[in-house]
Amino acid sequence: MNGTERISAILDALSREHGEGAYPGRSSEGLSPRWEPDPFHVLVATILSQRTRDDNTRKASDRLFERYGTMDEIASADIGDVAELIRPAGFPAQKAKAIVECCRILIRDYGRAVPSDTGELTKLPMVGRKTAACVRSYAMGIPSVCVDTHVHRMSNLMGLVDTKTPEATETELMGIAPEERWSDINRYMVRHGQTVCLPGRPRCDRCTVRALCDEGARRDPR
Ligand code: SF4
Repeated sequence: MNGTERISAILDALSREHGEGAYPGRSSEGLSPRWEPDPFHVLVATILSQRTRDDNTRKASDRLFERYGTMDEIASADIGDVAELIRPAGFPAQKAKAIVECCRILIRDYGRAVPSDTGELTKLPMVGRKTAACVRSYAMGIPSVCVDTHVHRMSNLMGLVDTKTPEATETELMGIAPEERWSDINRYMVRHGQTVCLPGRPRCDRCTVRALCDEGARRDPR
C-alpha cells in the first residue's frame, strides 16, 4: 500500500468512526445556532480556538456574537469589552486586539469580504497558515490541509510523514493525499486526536486505524 492509498484508507476509517468530525466552534453540544458558518464567523472562531478547547471556543464565540453580531459592530467595539466577552477562550487581550483589527482591515481593504487567498489571509493579525487553511476549508469549501497540533502529532505517529514542523507536515500531506481529501484530514484527525489518539496517551487498543499506523504496530507488533 503506498502513502496515498494508506492516507485514503485512514480517512475512510476515521470518517466512518467520527461522522461529521470537527468544525471550528463545534463543541460537544454541536454547532452554535447563534452564528452562521460563513467565512467571517469561522475566521473569528478559528482565531478564538487557538490554544484552547472546543467548548471554550464555543462559549467565547457565542458571547461575542450575541453582543456584536456583525463585522462593523466588532470593528467599532471597545477592545476591553471584546476581551471580557471572549475571556473563556484564553489570551483575551491578544485575541481581542487581533479580532477587532481583523474586522477593521477587512472593512478598509477587502470590502468586508474575507479573502480566499492564503497569502492575503495570512496578512491578517493572528492568522497563520493553519487558521487560513481552516477558513478556506470549512467556510469556503476550498480543499486545504489545516495542520494543528493533533494533525502534526498523529501524522508523524502514523508514519505518514517524518517532519519537525506543522508547515513541513502540511507540505508532505499535500503531496500524498488526493486533493479532494485535503479538508478531511483536519476534520477527522482532530476528532480522533480528541477522543482516541490522545496526546501522550494514545488508546491504540481501541483505535480503528491501528493496522494502518506505525505507532500502533510498534505497540502491538503481532
Ligand atoms: S494506533 Fe495508536 S498511535 Fe496510531 S492513530 Fe491509533 S491511537 Fe494513535
